[in-house]
Amino acid sequence: MPKIGVVGSGNVGATVALYAAQLELGDITMVDIIEGVPQGKALDMLEAGPVLGYDSQVVGSNDYAAIEGADVVVVTAGLARKPGQDRLDLLKKNAEIITSVTENIVTYAPQSIILMVSNPLDVMTYIALTVSGFGRKRVFGQAGVLDCARYRTFIAMELGVSMEDTSAMILGGHGDTMVPLPRYTTVSGIPITELLPQETIDRIVQRTRDGGAEIVNLLKTGSAYYAPAAAVVQMVESILRGKNRIVPASVLLEGEYGLHGVCVGVPVKLGRSGVEGIIELKLTDAERAALHASAGVYQQSIKELNL
Ligand code: NAD
Repeated sequence: MPKIGVVGSGNVGATVALYAAQLELGDITMVDIIEGVPQGKALDMLEAGPVLGYDSQVVGSNDYAAIEGADVVVVTAGLARKPGQDRLDLLKKNAEIITSVTENIVTYAPQSIILMVSNPLDVMTYIALTVSGFGRKRVFGQAGVLDCARYRTFIAMELGVSMEDTSAMILGGHGDTMVPLPRYTTVSGIPITELLPQETIDRIVQRTRDGGAEIVNLLKTGSAYYAPAAAVVQMVESILRGKNRIVPASVLLEGEYGLHGVCVGVPVKLGRSGVEGIIELKLTDAERAALHASAGVYQQSIKELNL
């Protein structure tokens, strides 16, 4: 079985481990700095195996050596957003954590693919890319799959149709500046622009942009994790099973979309070696301007951190 490392055994990390075990995507090792928590959660998950019918091994550790030889390492370590707190507020603290996490991944899993989840996502992806030296095919971030899942949920709710029949594409950073693309968003192949009036699309797009904050405000402490973990696991599955799914991922742009030296969400082909291709869509002037504005936010953060 392939090996999946999960750094951080909090809400997102543990849910990633559970979903991955349920799909038997590989054997899973969770690493966290809190003593006993990764071990306890891992044992609990292992004990669900006989009932749920999976044979993935799940172990927990406080020692990064436990991820040795991992094929994919999902990074969820860090501090979650608090109510009213902007993702960028987390920047400095999480940057330190992600630098040290990445150094450990380089030591123990030098052949791995790093899938970043920690926020602010696009900047943390850039840090892991820079610190690891693994290259953009092997270091990228999950955000767009989650944002699309939220968008698809709201479209299905609005139209009273199956969630499964919805398909969406969102570009840009994971935050208020994301760039949903209604003309590339469909229900069974029908663009939503033919199914919904513009005002309704605008309302759904706004709810999608605020999707993370809506849940933070409801939970009061902590942030979303079921849908984020599901999105991560879809990406891990595409990698480990070589499914070559086309999904939005935060990846270093080297001229694509007219952007350089910044990680933001764009459609990629995800397969066994990671990002196997970047799809460059023809954007309208307004969409391109929105994508550049979104990237500008993260370029600014990269400057602030002197990266
Ligand atoms: P959480 O607080 O439940 O879990 C975070 C865990 O990281 C904790 O258990 C903590 O002990 C651990 N940790 C901290 N420093 C560590 C280190 N150096 N090494 C190993 N573990 C360490 O938070 P959560 O809800 O699981 O969220 C985790 C991260 O994911 C946050 O940054 C959050 O903002 C982000 N997130 C991203 C998305 C996305 O779509 N990209 C969605 C949801 C959450």
